Amino acid sequence: MKTPFFDARMDFPEMERTRAEIREFLARDPATKTPHADSWSHFDPEFSRRLGAAGFIGMTWPKRYGGHERSSLERYVVVEELLAAGAPSAAHWIADRQTGPQLLRFGTEAQKQDILPRIARGECYCSIGMSEPDSGSDLASVRTRARRDGDTWVINGRKIWTSYAHRSHYVLMLCRTGEDPAARQQGLSQILVPLDASGLTIRPIINMAGDHDFNELLFEDVRVPADALLGQEGQGWNQVISELAFERSGPERFLSSFVLLEAFVERARREPSADAAMLIGSLIARLAPLRGMSMSIAVQLGRGEQPNFEAALVKETGSLFEQDLAELIMREVVPAADLTSADKFQRLLAEAVLHAPSFSIRGGTREILRGIIARELGLR
Ligand SMILES: Cc1cc2nc3c(=O)[nH]c(=O)nc-3n(C[C@H](O)[C@H](O)[C@H](O)COP(=O)(O)OP(=O)(O)OC[C@H]3O[C@@H](n4cnc5c(N)ncnc54)[C@H](O)[C@@H]3O)c2cc1C
Repeated sequence: MKTPFFDARMDFPEMERTRAEIREFLARDPATKTPHADSWSHFDPEFSRRLGAAGFIGMTWPKRYGGHERSSLERYVVVEELLAAGAPSAAHWIADRQTGPQLLRFGTEAQKQDILPRIARGECYCSIGMSEPDSGSDLASVRTRARRDGDTWVINGRKIWTSYAHRSHYVLMLCRTGEDPAARQQGLSQILVPLDASGLTIRPIINMAGDHDFNELLFEDVRVPADALLGQEGQGWNQVISELAFERSGPERFLSSFVLLEAFVERARREPSADAAMLIGSLIARLAPLRGMSMSIAVQLGRGEQPNFEAALVKETGSLFEQDLAELIMREVVPAADLTSADKFQRLLAEAVLHAPSFSIRGGTREILRGIIARELGLR
């Protein structure tokens, strides 16, 4: 990396060491030969296995669960470098970022011993089963029901937009387990369902870039053992809220198209202009405070805190930045975007432009996040 934004001198000593290690790994890995914008939406199990074998997944988890007992800031550095290299990180991303930490926090000893080491080796991938056809922003209205029958849960319902369910091993489901029809947040539970379970149909949904990333899931009398419950029955809402802070605050909320910015800088070196220089300056100036906010949340999460408001702030300002990045560069160099181009800059620009609309939807929409921020500020 050449940009001062990533200058290792801004880091603590252990972060500098980790940054050197991950850079060395990425420089040698074949998967980084073709960098991608929105790289954590590119799925490559072989890359994730190599990353796991090198000790860069489950970094903060206890060694007895396959982790490496490193600090949350060291993990932060690794995530930054994966994004900065445009490395195809989708396979392990959700499991490393949020399902693993949820298991550590709420899982039984058996669940932790069974699943966490496989995640840390880069061999086990997880999906998020929150959204339903009529319940996205209003998550508390989910209708997928899990009914207890002896020593099994029987699940019926539908989930939608479930990223990589067709290539993952588990989906962590938010289900209604309570009987009271008036209850909303109460009566929800989280259940870890294997994606090859009998009665579960996975239907593809093709995104605007022509890729099969997300799916619709249909549950028809899907049976899982009673011990597939994560945490306590009826506590699903509180557990999901704690998961969202992990989901919303990381560098992927503002660095997913960093490779495009870097390619734009390279292009501007070859064809300098005052407009390009001003644009690069203004974009870098927005990145620095985003990084500061996001890093401080990583420290809070590492201490077991729940900085939900702060995470909403990073997600919203980060999405604005990422959408502006694609839009402003596109305006500067129209009509350079081309998904099939051999030119790296043209391809990355097309990828970023096609993925950008989803940035303010996935992980919570713009309006919902602004509502959370306004409430915390006492404005509503
Ligand atoms: C790329 C991508 C990947 C995704 N991956 C997953 C996944 O893996 N698992 C998963 O569970 N979900 C996933 N989602 C789904 C995502 O979380 C939902 O799309 C999102 O929460 C919005 O829900 P919805 O689509 O039902 O829209 P709605 O909730 O119907 O919202 C539609 C519009 O109305 C606005 N709106 C809704 N309520 C309010 C309100 N109270 N005040 C003001 N405005 C409001 C919204 O902001 C939005 O603009 C993914 C989405 C995308 C784009």
